[in-house]
Amino acid sequence: MKYTTLAIQKVKNIALVAHDNKKHDLLEWARWNKTILQSHNIFATGTTGNMLEEVLEMRIVRFQSGPLGGDQQIGAHITEGKIDFLIFFWDPLEPQPHDPDVKALLRIALVWNIPTACNRATADFIISSQLMDKSYNRIVQDFSAYHKRKISP
Ligand code: PGA
Repeated sequence: MKYTTLAIQKVKNIALVAHDNKKHDLLEWARWNKTILQSHNIFATGTTGNMLEEVLEMRIVRFQSGPLGGDQQIGAHITEGKIDFLIFFWDPLEPQPHDPDVKALLRIALVWNIPTACNRATADFIISSQLMDKSYNRIVQDFSAYHKRKISP
């Protein structure tokens, strides 16, 4: 298998998403890490973004609410290389109307090898990493061969 690298710049494009029962956790975490988050570009799903804007006192790019397609918008941005970091506090104890979108977002984050935190402990470790302050080359599979693959009709 061939690999290539994609850069995550020093100033990162971070997407934040939280399901309703996890919004309190995410807002508390964001408040605690406000100074660091303010030095990056922040994206969020609709309701999470509204609440974060107040806490972080900065402009946030807000997508649709998750159940209305916001998770898919974030996934599309990851695919296009416009989001390179995901903090996603999803709720493991309650089914969501958009569970397929949640799975799709987690899958695409894995495909493109972007740092992904789904709980506070991981988010704490990630945000305290020395790499937060640097650019970083993430290794991804070289998909050019995939595009050229031959499928017999
Ligand atoms: P919300 O969406 O920020 O609009 O609540 C989050 C989600 O449920 O994915």
